Amino acid sequence: MMKLNKSSYPNVNFCLRCGHALQIDSDREGKIRPQCPACGWVYYKNPVPAVAIVAFNDAGEILLVKRKFEPQAGEWALPSGYMEINLSPEENALEELQEETGLLGKSSHCIGWHYGNSPIYDKILNIGFRIEITGGKLQAGDDAEEAVFVSLNTLPQIAFASHRKFIELET
Ligand SMILES: [Zn+2]
Repeated sequence: MMKLNKSSYPNVNFCLRCGHALQIDSDREGKIRPQCPACGWVYYKNPVPAVAIVAFNDAGEILLVKRKFEPQAGEWALPSGYMEINLSPEENALEELQEETGLLGKSSHCIGWHYGNSPIYDKILNIGFRIEITGGKLQAGDDAEEAVFVSLNTLPQIAFASHRKFIELET
């Protein structure tokens, strides 16, 4: 286990509440956190939750998207995204499905979770959902280059360890 220290907070400089420069210091529990000397606001840095979707068509092919944006732009992955504050994990999964692939679905079950590194947010807690497709028309959305069903026999390299794990658990 790594202790929190100054290097846990690169580019954390100013208070989100009042704009004052933050000081990185021990809090009441002796944990190193950025704190605001002017208003007392404390920055708690947490893993970022994300969702990923495993879905198949009637032929047993799996739904993949070619990523348009970083991280891993141009590589194949499951439909996925960071969680929004206004959506539950299931709602988030269904919204990402629709945004990236044009398809509608309903949640079948939670596959599990994967905790890992991210080049953007340090640590990601990824939650996998098995989704049953219920409608819509397959079409790549604004944040996907392609959206296709792929045979498991010709699965391309998948960009993220979390996605590889969810696929493995569902096949
Ligand atoms: Zn402040």
